[in-house]
Amino acid sequence: MTSMSHVVLARKYRPRSFEQMVGQAHVVQALTNALSSGRLHHAYLFTGTRGIGKTTVSRILAKSLNCTGADGAGGVTAHPCGVCQACTEIDADRFIDYIELDAASNRSIDEIRELIERAAYKPSVGRYKVFMIDEAHQLTKDAFNALLKTLEEPPDYLKFVLATTDPEKMLPTVLSRCLQFNLRPMAPEVVHEHLAQVLATEGVAAEAGALRLLARAARGSMRDALSLTDQAIAYGAGTLREDGVRAMLGTVDRSHAASLVQALAGHDGAGVLATVAALRQLGLSGAGTLEEMAALLQQMAIEQAVPGALDDTDPDTAGARALAAALAPDETQLLYGIVVHGRAELSLLSDEYAALTMVLLRLLAFPPAGAAPLAAVAPRAAPLVAAPREARSTAPARPPVPLRPSAGPATAAAPAAPVRSAAPAAVPMAALAAGVPTAQEPPPWLDEELPAEDSPADSGRSASPDDARTDGEPPARRTVPVTPPVPALQATALGDQWAATVRPLLAAGSVTALVRELALQAELLAVAPRAEGGRRWRLRVERETLRNPALAAKLGVALQDALGEATEVDVEAGVALDSIARRDGAAREAAQQQAEQLIRSDPVVLALMAQFDTARIVPGSIKPLAATSGDTKAPPP
Ligand SMILES: [Zn+2]
Repeated sequence: MTSMSHVVLARKYRPRSFEQMVGQAHVVQALTNALSSGRLHHAYLFTGTRGIGKTTVSRILAKSLNCTGADGAGGVTAHPCGVCQACTEIDADRFIDYIELDAASNRSIDEIRELIERAAYKPSVGRYKVFMIDEAHQLTKDAFNALLKTLEEPPDYLKFVLATTDPEKMLPTVLSRCLQFNLRPMAPEVVHEHLAQVLATEGVAAEAGALRLLARAARGSMRDALSLTDQAIAYGAGTLREDGVRAMLGTVDRSHAASLVQALAGHDGAGVLATVAALRQLGLSGAGTLEEMAALLQQMAIEQAVPGALDDTDPDTAGARALAAALAPDETQLLYGIVVHGRAELSLLSDEYAALTMVLLRLLAFPPAGAAPLAAVAPRAAPLVAAPREARSTAPARPPVPLRPSAGPATAAAPAAPVRSAAPAAVPMAALAAGVPTAQEPPPWLDEELPAEDSPADSGRSASPDDARTDGEPPARRTVPVTPPVPALQATALGDQWAATVRPLLAAGSVTALVRELALQAELLAVAPRAEGGRRWRLRVERETLRNPALAAKLGVALQDALGEATEVDVEAGVALDSIARRDGAAREAAQQQAEQLIRSDPVVLALMAQFDTARIVPGSIKPLAATSGDTKAPPP
């Protein structure tokens, strides 16, 4: 152990002047200029992630405002002396006129009232009273409002410093009264360099690899970097070795990340499984693995884009260069995306390594570079959505499960086009052995009967199998079962007029539920002038409950208010062929079809379906992201 093992580096090396602040040159320069030229604002806001130096810069600012210089004759300065009463006491956290309030724990109106009461008194010893409110976004609304008054007209001797990790949550009225500075996360190289200087000063031997790991783990915060370094020195009994730091941080050895990328580059599923098994054996973290892979892939991408740009003194560079040549740039990007997004999935499964395997094998679900993804798998994908037409017509009431790759002639006729080399194709079954049924036995939940669609609006469109054939798509695309005939939606000009008139009323919420239902379900048959002035709107609606004269009268009043003319509404019985409800239903169905179409042509899905004989898409299980709510007409038949 060295003599410094008890020293807390983060405190010892906390910057005490603007010159010592690392990596925030833009903020330092702006503040220095303002202080030097005497252009002082009364409220400052420092934003940035935790541990980035918001409190530090606030203290330096407080010293700058209150420093009297070594001789006691100095004024406001950008270079506080560090020896006067104000400087030393602020550094020691006991200057009576500098008050830090942590809004995370003192967020109520009472705390702010107390602060504001203290603001009424002139500074006791300093030139300025400086109130620093950390995590200011956590103040309650009342507290903010109480503060606002003081912020608007502060006494000359009072300066506010607000700090927040989340400026979006600050009231705009507060933001507008503050001079805002955004502190940026530091690049790992900057942190690395600073750590090297600190450790040289401390006389602690450190391997470059150890510093690189610490700098990366600090995620842009110098405070975190120094705290981690403290821990690492304790962990390594006074020295910083790469393996020790790696063990302390739980960082996965670069070699594991490299062999995973190597295996994925070679589409070697077995290699992926073997490496994941080794990680499990060693108890190395799945998240750490993905992080290390992301770092490696990022280096690879840099090498691919700008050869030679990587740091040659970094021992990881050689490995990244070699792999950069093994993986195509677009696959590198793809894998990076998969790895970064996959991190969130690890917590979803109780078995982290199974989840890790799944994330990694996702790359193998994509065809190798250069292959035409759709053409390669289409022959096998098509039968997956095919159901023999006879089967449907003889059993029209059967719920929609036609995506089963039946042993019918369509499947037999389709050539088995391999997605890629055979080896990886066999892998996912082994990888997913936990909890996923084998290829011979379809998962039971896929055989459950699905509830039949009963909405006439939804089923009207694909009622006729013959209609379905005219658009040139293979019959396999039509998966909605045939149901008793309901005339198809026929969009009319009157329907357009009705929708354009009524939708604003509905959107404004100016009609009650049943009137709304009448407006939605009805078809407009005619609009005719009345002898006594105004117009009569003739509607047709099927449901008897909606053919209530009181509802029609209420709808008439709503229309009258909206149109500004006398309005009468008549309702007759009959099937509404062009109602807003049917239009919306058709739009929903079109969106659904489009979503299913997208899913069916998605290369990942196609590749998965090609690999898993039992894979099926259950119609209706796919939901479009946003339902179309506009006045969309039915898609062309
Ligand atoms: Zn001073």
